[in-house]
Amino acid sequence: MNNNQMPAGDILGASLPHISGNFGNIFHSDNYDHYRSAVKETLDLVGTFLHRNDKPFSGIEAKEMKGMVQQIDLNQKLSSYQELLQEVDTIYVKHATAFHLPQYVAHLNCPIVIPALAGEILVSAINSSQDTYDQSAGGTFMERKLIDWTAEQLGYSAETSDGVFTAGGSQSNLMGLVMMRDCFSQKRYNHNIKLDGLPQEAGRFRIFVSDKSHFSNLKNASIMGLGEKCIVKVPTDERFCMDISLLKKYIKREEQLGNIPIGIVATAGTTDFGNVDPLEDIANIAEQYNIWMHVDAAYGCALLLSEKYRHLLNGIERADSVTIDYHKSFFQPISSSAFIVKNKRELRILKHHADYLNPAEMDEEEIPAQINKSIIQSTRRFDALKLWFTLRMMGKEQLSEYTDTVIDLTKDVASMINENADFELLSDTDLSVLVFRYIRTDIEDLNALNQYIKMKLFYSGEVLVASTKVDGNFYLKFTFLNPITTTEDVHQILNKIKAHGEDFSTAN
Ligand SMILES: *Cc1c(COP(=O)(O)O)cnc(C)c1O
Repeated sequence: MNNNQMPAGDILGASLPHISGNFGNIFHSDNYDHYRSAVKETLDLVGTFLHRNDKPFSGIEAKEMKGMVQQIDLNQKLSSYQELLQEVDTIYVKHATAFHLPQYVAHLNCPIVIPALAGEILVSAINSSQDTYDQSAGGTFMERKLIDWTAEQLGYSAETSDGVFTAGGSQSNLMGLVMMRDCFSQKRYNHNIKLDGLPQEAGRFRIFVSDKSHFSNLKNASIMGLGEKCIVKVPTDERFCMDISLLKKYIKREEQLGNIPIGIVATAGTTDFGNVDPLEDIANIAEQYNIWMHVDAAYGCALLLSEKYRHLLNGIERADSVTIDYHKSFFQPISSSAFIVKNKRELRILKHHADYLNPAEMDEEEIPAQINKSIIQSTRRFDALKLWFTLRMMGKEQLSEYTDTVIDLTKDVASMINENADFELLSDTDLSVLVFRYIRTDIEDLNALNQYIKMKLFYSGEVLVASTKVDGNFYLKFTFLNPITTTEDVHQILNKIKAHGEDFSTAN
């Protein structure tokens, strides 16, 4: 290393410490060459993955996969990266799901962008921890700036809002429900749940969600001690959005039963249909009852970046809190999510003072600590840096273009399916999910037919589609998230579905 590149040692009047002995695996300036070559060799395996894996899945069965992993003796170390990478290729990379291929149209796993992956190198190597300023320095303020930026996209004021990066949408939803519960209890009963536990009335708390909302709401209610019973599922309309007249009815009914409405969760982009609940109407009702409104925009946050379709989120700025999943809709590698709250004072409800991290006598602004806003993570990755790399290299406009391309593709495919007598489309979408099934007039059991198609596709590995059940019936599901997917790609996917569908009777 050249001396004038390394002034730090001179300034401190001492050179960097050198290490001796068998410590070549420790991340340290002396071992930079090792780090670089290890990463370089691993990078070549990424290249192999990209150039070789031309199907989204190898089709391997779980039993065989398990056997391959189990036979490895972890107590026997390997002698080179070459051996290691060969092993990991065999038991992992060869069979890994390739989300970046246009033939992957199954779950909400977006393709990822290159600037974010470049950022990931720094995230892992420097390994800052975002809990306190003394473990992250600039990282704390970069995360805060991205939170402010996201809040502005929502229509919040960056001055009065706040938030934190989280591990995922389920965790952000948990934060939304905890804030809803604790603020309600504080305001209505002057009862502090953080200190005193649940109030007597908690058994009668009710939270309203649509019957197409994400299951994390149920899990969260259960770990919050409110029980799944506190979640009231409001039926959806013909577009699978929360039915507002039924929401009003259900709230009244719960009140008549002696229960206590504490908040509403609107879903902006349901996992199964990609449709946005009527946000303005829900905001009106939340306002009328003076209860919390949380918006689960884990998926629908994509619309924030779209010029063409941003209006579908109108009203989101009236919510008290929002879940954002950058790893669903901003082309970010897992994990990258955020919880944003409109009124930052309310976030204080989560604050805990640990003497060794963020002692009470330290003023929040003097020693900034993101841990004050984090509900369960203490040590926390600097995932925000990936989004920073993305925005700085691509700009909001390019992300917006990617999102619009995906939504436009979905509209084209919807027409394609509608015009094809072999298929039945169940619903349109505000985002990019299509729920449909293959039909054959000579087959009565359409569920078995479509289950067969899905299974065939999965084990051939050529195309990965998802599925869901609606009113007890089995449907196939496309989730489009990849802007490089073309209508021609989807045309071929539909042909494959059809080919397996035509085989059905002979196979059975
Ligand atoms: C995926 C999803 C979640 C959960 O997010 P994770 O990041 O997987 O924890 C929550 N809500 C909706 C609508 C989702 O689609």
